[in-house]
Amino acid sequence: MQSPLQAIDLTTSRDQSFVEDVARESGQDLRSCYQCGNCTAGCAYTMNYDIPVHQIMRLVQLGLRDKALSCRSIWLCATCQACTTRCPNNIEVAVVMDVLRHMARRAGHAPERLVKTFTDGFLASVARHGRVFEAGLAACFALKSGKPLQDAGLGPAMLSRGKLAFLPHEPGGNGKAEVAAIFQRFLKDQESGK
Ligand code: SF4
Ligand code: SF4
Repeated sequence: MQSPLQAIDLTTSRDQSFVEDVARESGQDLRSCYQCGNCTAGCAYTMNYDIPVHQIMRLVQLGLRDKALSCRSIWLCATCQACTTRCPNNIEVAVVMDVLRHMARRAGHAPERLVKTFTDGFLASVARHGRVFEAGLAACFALKSGKPLQDAGLGPAMLSRGKLAFLPHEPGGNGKAEVAAIFQRFLKDQESGK
């Protein structure tokens, strides 16, 4: 019978350029992680993760690109920063998770499709209106998620309490143009590979 534990062949799996890319994009010294597990101990979402955050740090150290970028955890991370505040080596762990999410997106990995759908809708709304238009985002997400009526019952109560508006509240002055410029700069950087 084959053992369920399978050793990883680092001579074939290790991708040093991945380690360097994550270090450069996050600005973190990934070598200083000594696997104490404090980040995972403080992570409120770890029970939903397929790989706990300290093990993701280890995957990055080992250069295991595909395993790190295809995990669900990086999409479920709430960027709450608890891991960052608990790290004895001052590693911005939440930033590393964010960088991995960006890399996964660029590589075409999105195991949590609904999270990506919501994030895409949120960003599109901010790009268009200068700030999020909640009712529009909710309607867009309901349609794209394939469950259009799932949260429909919440709408009337939220509308009556002023938590949702029928029309977007766009920022005054140059606010909308300034936000749009941020998105344009981001797209330009992406096209030029920065
Ligand atoms: S930022 Fe993400 S990984 Fe870190 S503690 Fe919060 S949910 Fe967990
Ligand atoms: S708390 Fe910091 S040093 Fe400890 S495992 Fe997490 S990232 Fe590594």
